[in-house]
Amino acid sequence: MDTKQLPRRVPASQQTASALFLWVELGAEGLSYDEVLPYFLKGEDNGEIDDVGTAYHATGGPMSVERFPYQPPFAAAILNASVEAGFGVSEDLNGAHFTGFTIGQASNKKGVRRSNAAAYLRPIRHRSNLHISLNTTVTRVLIENNATYGVEYYKRTIYFLLYFFRASTGKLLVEYPPQDGEVSTINVSREVVLSTGALKTPFILKHSGIGPKEELENFDITVVKDLPGVGENFHDHPTFPVSFTLNDLDEYDDSWAVAVEYLTFRTWPLSSTGLTQVVGVLPNNDTTDEWPNVQLNPAGYQSGCAPGEIDALKSSGKRSVSISVGW
Ligand SMILES: Cc1cc2nc3c(=O)[nH]c(=O)nc-3n(C[C@H](O)[C@H](O)[C@H](O)COP(=O)(O)OP(=O)(O)OC[C@H]3O[C@@H](n4cnc5c(N)ncnc54)[C@H](O)[C@@H]3O)c2cc1C
Repeated sequence: MDTKQLPRRVPASQQTASALFLWVELGAEGLSYDEVLPYFLKGEDNGEIDDVGTAYHATGGPMSVERFPYQPPFAAAILNASVEAGFGVSEDLNGAHFTGFTIGQASNKKGVRRSNAAAYLRPIRHRSNLHISLNTTVTRVLIENNATYGVEYYKRTIYFLLYFFRASTGKLLVEYPPQDGEVSTINVSREVVLSTGALKTPFILKHSGIGPKEELENFDITVVKDLPGVGENFHDHPTFPVSFTLNDLDEYDDSWAVAVEYLTFRTWPLSSTGLTQVVGVLPNNDTTDEWPNVQLNPAGYQSGCAPGEIDALKSSGKRSVSISVGW
């Protein structure tokens, strides 16, 4: 679950919290703000709890959340400009004051990225009631009499061997992906929780017979449940970048010295995501501070390995940065 997504953006303001109640009104039972907040809190181990407070954040959960230890100096310039322009700086855009610019918190612990697998699965991987199947692709959820009784999948061991061979030698032995694994099934006695992401979850549902009847029939899939909404209503978030050049050398941000600094002290550019850690959330003229609808994402000062020496230049020109504006 994306711990930065909508529910966390909702502040105490009743007006905005009602956006989530709208979800419930539309049928998403159990997903109201008050009902989901405890789970977000339970998952979080906020490394800067004194800065962001305990109303919308917590400590002690499996997922480490904090700012990266390093910001390029231009990040501070953007925050200063935001103050100058009257947009302000928020300590925490997921908290009570959710417009303005901020250095955003991200899933990491002292500059080391933290994935859901690292946070949730690895610590409990030896539990006797947990089996993790690597290199396994689920193809269908098996359903009979309106109840799930299993999952269909295949394993792709050779695919991964070929992949690593190619990654380490640069040579392609055969075209892949070969679907080398036999399709197998595993039975379940209670339930199946499908959490394969925003795109693959509806894909597997449709493949299992849950989705728009006509579409399933076109692919000769037996319809288990005619649900026209599955896989629909995806929205693009249009953004457009505004690019600038800075009065700064177009240097590589990474070098062997930067790597040593990261490996030794977990700081400097490799411990962060450059300017993308800065984010701005603003209302436009059609809305108010309670309903901000524009997000600004600066980019630049990202990792880029230097070919050799420290202070190597990417070009003889000036450094470019951009700010993407959209929602
Ligand atoms: C570059 C980047 C940085 C981000 N940084 C942050 C951050 O700092 N903080 C934050 O809160 N969010 C961050 N996010 C967003 C966050 O990662 C996602 O919102 C979140 O991971 C979504 O979780 P999910 O469980 O819905 O899906 P996913 O994390 O996409 O998990 C789906 C899993 O299902 C597996 N899968 C797919 N199909 C199959 C199949 N057929 N069979 C078996 N397995 C399958 C996939 O391999 C994947 O492991 C970031 C996203 C990106 C891209």
